[in-house]
Amino acid sequence: MNGREQISSPKRTKEIIQRYKFSFKKSLGQNFLIDQNILDKIVDAAELDSSAGALEIGPGIGALTERLAQTAGAVTAVEIDRRLIPILRDVLSPYPHVKVRNDDVLKVDLKELFAEDFAGVERVSVVANLPYYVTTPILMKLLEEKLPLDNIVVMIQKEVAERMAASPGGKEYGSLSIAVQYYSEPELVCKVPRTVFIPEPNVESAVIRLKVRQHPPVEVADEKHFFEVVQACFVQRRKTIANNIKARYFPQEGRERLEALLAEAGIEPTRRGETLSIEEYARLSGVLLAAGIA
Ligand code: SAM
Repeated sequence: MNGREQISSPKRTKEIIQRYKFSFKKSLGQNFLIDQNILDKIVDAAELDSSAGALEIGPGIGALTERLAQTAGAVTAVEIDRRLIPILRDVLSPYPHVKVRNDDVLKVDLKELFAEDFAGVERVSVVANLPYYVTTPILMKLLEEKLPLDNIVVMIQKEVAERMAASPGGKEYGSLSIAVQYYSEPELVCKVPRTVFIPEPNVESAVIRLKVRQHPPVEVADEKHFFEVVQACFVQRRKTIANNIKARYFPQEGRERLEALLAEAGIEPTRRGETLSIEEYARLSGVLLAAGIA
């Protein structure tokens, strides 16, 4: 350490904000972390060491970035807000292995970024206190691009974390649970109160760890079709599987062929989408696809 207080200490955070006359932009989800315990939990969950790289999305004034710099061998932080770049360059100057990029993470070519910034690195984690207005698009981009990632540890809105980690049968379980669990194994690390941020957000938060899968948990012939079937089955949560599938794929037909296909997939037509496991969705998509229904 450089003999100064951590950036994330409430005192230093306030000092930095005042020195640079920084004003928070609610529209960019700017809530900065000031709790040392929570930062420890986030960094510990990523299991970093000097052979690992860390990609941070939305570093703010560098609270988490500094912790990552003290643990990982290479750190890249992507921040959309141009006003934060000179602040980050200044406060992170003691850490030459940190690279700050001024970009919208949703527009960045992540494969290129990985090739440039993490070339000699054994494994990479994404670690972030995410802007809540774009949590799902960011996580789905990270997962769908099949990047060489070991794990993703992120602070997100508590309800979204619960939906991502939900099992079949409950009201939190939905297409987001299935999408996230297809690519990763989610685990809730801890719940986080509003009081650990400046300014306090309107919602409760949680830290979630997604261990990225090397192979999907089920065999799927056509991923796009699989996810379309899943989406279709949750269009109206209160409707049965048969009714949702009929509305999407057989709007003009009677129920005979639909019921035969559901029977072939081993799925009772009266069940609801929220009761089907990922294996059952894979089977259903496979049967529909084999029958030419896409
Ligand atoms: N990591 C800091 C912390 O924990 O104190 C700040 C976290 S704050 C919740 C989210 C950060 O993401 C803000 O700095 C915001 O400007 C940035 N951000 C918002 N949208 C972004 C995007 N599309 N791409 C990159 N950064 C973004």
